[in-house]
Amino acid sequence: MSDPVEPGPPAEGAFAVLLGVQDLDTAIAQHQHRKAALPERKELEDLARRVAALRRQAAQLTEQRDALATRLSHLEEQSDAVVARRRTLEDRLYAARGAAGRDLQAIETEVAQLAGRLEQLEEDELAVLEEQEPLEAELARHESELAGMADRSAELTAAVSGIDADIDRDLVGLAERRRREAARLPEALAERYEDLRSRLGGTGAARLVGDRCDGCHLTLPAMEVDRIRHLAPDAVVTCDQCGRILVRGSLLGGT
Ligand SMILES: [Zn+2]
Repeated sequence: MSDPVEPGPPAEGAFAVLLGVQDLDTAIAQHQHRKAALPERKELEDLARRVAALRRQAAQLTEQRDALATRLSHLEEQSDAVVARRRTLEDRLYAARGAAGRDLQAIETEVAQLAGRLEQLEEDELAVLEEQEPLEAELARHESELAGMADRSAELTAAVSGIDADIDRDLVGLAERRRREAARLPEALAERYEDLRSRLGGTGAARLVGDRCDGCHLTLPAMEVDRIRHLAPDAVVTCDQCGRILVRGSLLGGT
């Protein structure tokens, strides 16, 4: 390898620093990705959606159940009224023993009608109760399922916030190291790197490993590699294929 002559022009160190900054940026991006892609977070989001759906169903069931309860209480009020009316008539019958047969007959007819009406009301009440029963059972199932989901959700929330806290702690350290290292870069190189990084998926600088760009993993033509090797150490070299700043191994002190 034709390592140029002067020992350590400033740019040599700058390229090594640049790769260090790139490595830190990559590590930061990986941490952020890991945080966003936590399986626990995904499960928590899925769970929240299922809870919302189940709550909507439970609300519908509750509405149906409440409508039935209202109907039942109306039926009961009517039954109470019928029972009260019948009692009144029976009292009157009792008091009117020996009265004119026709009046008694009319009262007895009404009492018989009321008995029929009461029977009908009781049948209706029973029908409502029968309708209520499966609704109540289903609501109870929903409630126990929701309780299980709430437990799981609490577990996941605790797990996610624990992992988040660990990752955030690492991120704070990485960001601090990144800030210190980036401050050592020449301004023009830093700007160029930032521009490439923002356009090229977070990677602005790559190693030239043999004849291969470590950024796009493509092999450079032999002539191009040879040309690059003979450039001055402070020359900024970019990959023909991906445009990233290529850092030559010869500038990395033995890498
Ligand atoms: Zn490349």
